Amino acid sequence: MDILVENLTKKYGIQKAVDDITFKVKTGEVLGFLGPNGAGKTTTMKAITCYLAPNEGNIKVGGYSIKDDPEKVKQLIGYLPEHNPLYEDMGVIDYLKFVAELHNIPKSNIKERIVEMVKICGLEGEKHKKISELSKGYQQRVGLAQALIHDPEVLILDEPTSGLDPNQIVEIRELIRKIGQKKTVILSSHILAEVEATCDRIMIISKGKIVADGSSDQLRKQAQGKEILKISIEGADKNEVYTALNELDSVAYVDFISKSSSSFEVQSRPEMTSKRAVFQLCVDKGWYLTELTPTETKLEDVFRELTMN
Ligand code: ATP
Repeated sequence: MDILVENLTKKYGIQKAVDDITFKVKTGEVLGFLGPNGAGKTTTMKAITCYLAPNEGNIKVGGYSIKDDPEKVKQLIGYLPEHNPLYEDMGVIDYLKFVAELHNIPKSNIKERIVEMVKICGLEGEKHKKISELSKGYQQRVGLAQALIHDPEVLILDEPTSGLDPNQIVEIRELIRKIGQKKTVILSSHILAEVEATCDRIMIISKGKIVADGSSDQLRKQAQGKEILKISIEGADKNEVYTALNELDSVAYVDFISKSSSSFEVQSRPEMTSKRAVFQLCVDKGWYLTELTPTETKLEDVFRELTMN
């Protein structure tokens, strides 16, 4: 089931938390919203799930508009909010039964749905406990189970692994991947490794705007037009080297890798290489070039570049 977000704007007072964003998510896609704190990820998710009314724009889920058919949209969506609000005094099974009734699942189907959720979300060993007695990871699984119980076509998961230990993170990611084979999933995170591991497509959001959209490979390639070299030069004053590297035509910026040694990160201008110029500079000056290594663009670099300013 497709999600279509069109020119969505949400303001809090004068601040635009989400600023005129448009995108489409297709059936069977797992889309990761990646962005620093306050980027607008939660606000966008709340708008899709009808928890917040946008100031401008519209959202359609499976063709139903959040403005004209909010009840229908809510039925189509399973939502795990950021802080996973659960009724901690309830037992796991009672809570799932309660949520199933809220979703108007026919009485005759409720037991079967609970059994299935317990199985899918790996709750078998913990299902007789009260929610307050569960570890954070198992509470998160209950959160996922409540989001899935009415078999929604679309899943919206706001930081689904926050606060979990590394083992729990891996398990929840695997679970989301499995669910994502059949459903349309949007999840948010500020952990790069998480979106890379879980999502087919990554959308980087910064200050309410989409600043990048694509697979992790595509995003890396987008930044790969800019060559980054690690360079070490000996037999020279490091400040003199720094200045000379900066003066090369093909160089966009130079950074000290460590203040004490003569190692630098050199980024070339788009579509240019600085390898020959660096080599020639060392020959001309009589310096020793002890390292010249191209650095692979990491998703972290892409993220930093797009969200820093
Ligand atoms: P995080 O990763 O920290 O959860 P986020 O990307 O989910 O951040 P949002 O929670 O959508 O970001 O917030 C976007 C901006 O809107 C922030 O500057 C935030 O302070 C502001 N904001 C969010 N909710 C409200 C609110 N209820 N009232 C006023 N401002 C708000």
